[in-house]
Parts: sequence; structure tokens; C-alpha cells
Amino acid sequence: RQWNAVESVYQKLKSSGFKALLAGGCVRDLIMNREPNDFDIATDAIPDQVAALFSNALTVGREFGVTIIPFDSFQVEVATFRVDGSYKDGRRPETVTFSTPEEDAKRRDFTVNALFYDLDTKKVIDYVGGEKDIAAKIIRAVGDPEKRFEEDKLRLLRAVRFAAQLDFQIEPQTFTAVQKLHAEVKAVAAERIRDELVKLVKTKQADRGYELLLQSGLTSVIFPEFQKPWSDQQITTKTSALLKGGADSSEIGFLNLVFEAAQVVGVDVVRDLLKRLKSSNQEAEAVHWTLKSRELILDSSKVRLATLIRALAHPNAEVCEAFYDSRPGTFGVPKDVHEKSRTMRSRLKSTVLKGSRTLPERFISGDDLQSIGFKKGPSLGETLEEAFNLQLEDKLKSREDAIRWAELRK
Ligand code: ATP
Ligand code: MG
Repeated sequence: RQWNAVESVYQKLKSSGFKALLAGGCVRDLIMNREPNDFDIATDAIPDQVAALFSNALTVGREFGVTIIPFDSFQVEVATFRVDGSYKDGRRPETVTFSTPEEDAKRRDFTVNALFYDLDTKKVIDYVGGEKDIAAKIIRAVGDPEKRFEEDKLRLLRAVRFAAQLDFQIEPQTFTAVQKLHAEVKAVAAERIRDELVKLVKTKQADRGYELLLQSGLTSVIFPEFQKPWSDQQITTKTSALLKGGADSSEIGFLNLVFEAAQVVGVDVVRDLLKRLKSSNQEAEAVHWTLKSRELILDSSKVRLATLIRALAHPNAEVCEAFYDSRPGTFGVPKDVHEKSRTMRSRLKSTVLKGSRTLPERFISGDDLQSIGFKKGPSLGETLEEAFNLQLEDKLKSREDAIRWAELRK
């Protein structure tokens, strides 16, 4: 379906007399038999000309020559062949000039990402040796690696991410340049760093990606918190072991990445780190809650039943349980203990919570307690909560039961 959309955009450009080529990552993925994440078309039409052809076109960066053609669940990006002028802030070129396919290939980051595909002739167009690098599984900067990383520091992370994602080696001079310039990743916005990390953690080779981050020195900038308490070797073995399981969803993958960290630097430091990487507050709190609730969720024999039931009704409980239950025996709690706890949790969820993750209604309220003579204050609150705990634990069976019990505590 996406393919039909790509072809229709392509045909329209061609029949209007423009050049059009599939470009970048999608060509690489098609050659490698991978499902492309998105499709990009490069053209000699300038953005105004592209916009004139597609009524719903969105010109997102006129100065960069990028136009988006939206379809219902995806989009096709059309970009004018261009050459980038000098870079200003270590991220973006100051000016761009519309140009030829060859120059457009040369402004791209890695040879494997710099290929074009002509849908008419069904031929790959390769100005930079990208085809042979795909065959040899090599990530190689286009042109002088140092210069290319200096221009745009995000490429430091992209090199590592693609190596992990594609299971490629980083060509030695390219990797030497990453190592030399690793500190410059500071110039990259936290959101972009985070996006790359999430992509990295989602790959099957997440542990290798992490190892490359470490060898390149990038971790020392991205996670300076990890440096003091851990030697490099410790970080590698701990984190690799956890990541090796293969992350199935980004949520769980991201949790894996921070889990061991939390054991050493503490759950609060991890929360701050996530916030610094511009995780939403909600996500940072969910991760924090999950890390804090490890014992509760995994070794339920140690906690009060009511505390566990309350936790299971917490909005973050679902992700938390899914995370810990994804690999029994690997979170510092023996498998059989974990298994017992899982059984208990599932029983409580179906009985007390009735499958809904909401707590039952309370038998008695603060007003009830006041009407039997309790004064407002901490002791009223404690009695109220304790009555509810006993209710959850099925030790108080009815409202009458609860009132009788409260009378005795007056
Ligand atoms: P993904 O699988 O993540 O989509 P991709 O290779 O398609 O990988 P995109 O970020 O979608 O990467 O970018 C599309 C293409 O644009 C790349 O293949 C590359 O040619 C070029 N490109 C993207 N970001 C950069 C960059 N920072 N520097 C140079 N070229 C880039
Ligand atoms: Mg892409």
C-alpha cells in the first residue's frame, strides 16, 4: 500500500517532466531486503513545483527543499537534490543550494545511506561506493569522516545506531573520528539523543550498540552518571547481559537500559537522567515507579498484601509487571520466587480487582468515622486507610464489620 503511494508520487513527478529517484535509507533497506521505515524521493523539482503538483503537500522546510506528501497512515517525503552550505551550530547547514543527484549523494552521512534507485530502469545509482559497503556490511562516512561529524554531531550517534541496527561494522577511520569527536555530541539536543537511543535500544543488537557507545566514549557524555560508580567493563557486562534478551517494545527496552543503572546510581538519579533526556514526566515517573517497585512486584511474600493490591491498581502497574515478567529470574530474584509472586498477582487481579485495575469501593468513609466520634486529624486518616487495607485483605467483610472494627479503635 505504501509502495503504491510511493509509485504514484514518483509517476506524477516524472510525468510533469521532473527527475525522481528513491533516495537514502529506503534504497539501503530494499537492497538488504529490510522493510523500509519510510520512503524518500529525491527530485530536481523545487519545493514550490512539488507543492503545485500535490494539493495536500506540506512544505516543511522550504529552505532545505523538503516537502511531505501525507497519506492516511504514512507520508512520502520529497526532497530537492541539494548541496549543503557551511554548518552553523553543529547540527544544521546555514544555507542549502539546489543541485544535482551526485552532489546530493555527497551531502548524506554514510555511503550506505547515499544511494538512489531509479524506478524506471530498476537500477541503483551509486556515487559513493555504498553498494559495496552494504555487501561488506560497513558503515563508512561519505568523504572525510572528521569533517562530516564536525558538520553535524548527530551523525556520531547515527553511526553507532546504524551499526547496531544493521549489524554492520563501522569502518576504522570513521570510528576513529567518532572516538576523537565523541565529546561534541553535547551540541545535540536532548530529544534527538533520546530518539537515537530509543531506536538503538529497539534493535536486535542493542547490546552491541551499547558497547559501541561505550568504546566511542559517547556514554561518558550521554550518561556521565554511570562513569563514577562503574568501570567500563562493569557497564558493558551488566548492560549487555540485560539488553541481549532482545527488546520487544521500546518501553521495555528503555527500561532494560536503565534497570541496572538504577541498581548502582539509584532510582532517583535515573529519573533525573530520563528527564534530562527529555523523556516526558509521565515516562520518567513510570520508570521511577517501576524501578522502585521491584521487590513488591517480584517478591510478594515480603510485602503486606494490601500494599501489593494497591500497587496492582496503580496506573503504572501494567508496564511494570510486563517488564519484570518478561524475563523471570534475571532481576535479582530467583525464578521460583518470581513465579510464585506472579501467580499471586494474577489471582489478586482477578479476585480483588476484578480484572479492572481499579480498587473496590471503600466500606467506610471519613464521614462515617466522624459520625461515630472520630475527630479530624491523622488518627482518623490512619484508621480510614487501615480499614481499607483490612477490607482489601478480606479481613473485614462488610460495612458493618468495618464500623464495628473502627469503634474498637476509638
Ligand atoms: P531509518 O531507518 O531510521 O529511517 P534512514 O537512513 O532512512 O534510517 P532518515 O533519518 O530517515 O534515515 O534519513 C533519510 C536519509 O537522509 C538518510 O538515509 C540519509 O541519506 C539522509 N540523512 C538523514 N539524516 C542525516 C544527517 N544527519 N546527515 C546526513 N544525511 C542525513
Ligand atoms: Mg528513513
